[in-house]
Amino acid sequence: MMPKNVATMFTDCFFIVSFQRIILLKRISFNINMLPLVDIAVVGAGPSGLFSVLEAGLFKMNCCIIENNYISGGQCSMLYPEKPIYDVPGHKSIISRDFISLLKAQIAPYDPIIYYNHNVKHMDRLINHDREIVELCAYNNDDGSELRIKAHAVIIAIGGGKFIPRRPEIVDIYNFEGESVFYSVQDRSIFTKKRVVLAGGGDTAIDFALDLSEVADKVYIVHRRDNFRCVPEGLSKLCSIAENSNKVEFVIPYQLSDLIGDKVTKKLVGVIVSNTTTQETKILEADMLIPCFGLLNDLKDTANWGVKCSENGQNIIVNHLTMATNVQNIYAIGDIAVYEGKVKSILGGFYEAARACRAIYASLYPNNTIPSNCSRGKW
Ligand SMILES: Cc1cc2nc3c(=O)[nH]c(=O)nc-3n(C[C@H](O)[C@H](O)[C@H](O)COP(=O)(O)OP(=O)(O)OC[C@H]3O[C@@H](n4cnc5c(N)ncnc54)[C@H](O)[C@@H]3O)c2cc1C
Repeated sequence: MMPKNVATMFTDCFFIVSFQRIILLKRISFNINMLPLVDIAVVGAGPSGLFSVLEAGLFKMNCCIIENNYISGGQCSMLYPEKPIYDVPGHKSIISRDFISLLKAQIAPYDPIIYYNHNVKHMDRLINHDREIVELCAYNNDDGSELRIKAHAVIIAIGGGKFIPRRPEIVDIYNFEGESVFYSVQDRSIFTKKRVVLAGGGDTAIDFALDLSEVADKVYIVHRRDNFRCVPEGLSKLCSIAENSNKVEFVIPYQLSDLIGDKVTKKLVGVIVSNTTTQETKILEADMLIPCFGLLNDLKDTANWGVKCSENGQNIIVNHLTMATNVQNIYAIGDIAVYEGKVKSILGGFYEAARACRAIYASLYPNNTIPSNCSRGKW
């Protein structure tokens, strides 16, 4: 293993070699982050990022993961949790959500720390004892607090980028976010005894409505047309609640038009909706709004990381043998990585995780022979 004398690290003289500038910084123990140096910091907890923990563990390298979301699993969890996957070795077919649970159980013995709800903004190269390491600067999405992680190497596994909610076109919606407007249900207790408007016609809107109908005083489902794109069982359950109580009400064919509330306290009192055929408007008395219009991908942060991207900015260019980017000690795998002949798939990301970890091991321990390809468990 690399010498990881944290105590000496704290009093070291670090050179920050940022990509545009070179700064010499004398740092002392109490003003640098106390997180210990890790072998590999993985950005993104999709299938590729999660599997990196196992591949690194086989080489006795430790990992932490920084994930922008509240949950791991990337596209498998966010875009198709209920879909069967047919091309994961060892499974004739496996439901995406179950696949991610098994993957998490498989890496659990390696004790990865996952920093959820953090977004990596910058990566700086530091020199410590003639060896370059990378410092990642991530921010908590809720309170903006900063997290600094030092690592011998970084594996970027951010897939198509951060998932960001598609916002409805309501000018002042930002003013109510976090207090009265949410884009998902992370903690249903905050909706207890509230009047909630859910907008959208997919599984997400229907699932959230079913869930919240158990705690909220009233749930409105606002949708532009009378056909829904969702699993029929969920919809029929919700229809039956609507028929048998006044807890659930369908507002069709309507769309969101405006909000009524106090922008200072961020409290809503109503949601204005308009009929998509007659344009007539009405007010739904409500405390909370949850627009469920799907997710967009955001790759803007990669521009700050110094790595070379493809012309359209959608991928990071890597060496297909090592998964190394143009920046020393920074690697990229999974959907975000591109090279000639690249196939985007879960299996491809796994293979690339193995390649990157071997390359990192070879770079950290140039005098060691790469261990045989016979894997050993940690149980
Ligand atoms: C509908 C659908 C069906 C599919 N079916 C299959 C299939 O059957 N078989 C198959 O092999 N593949 C399938 N795929 C493709 C497969 O899901 C992807 O190839 C795979 O998810 C890529 O994994 P990844 O870890 O590279 O990226 P992702 O799964 O995209 O995960 C990336 C993670 O990085 C996080 N992240 C992004 N930016 C940041 C940041 N700045 N800081 C911190 N974290 C960040 C994201 O939140 C996310 O959790 C399907 C894809 C879709 C959309």
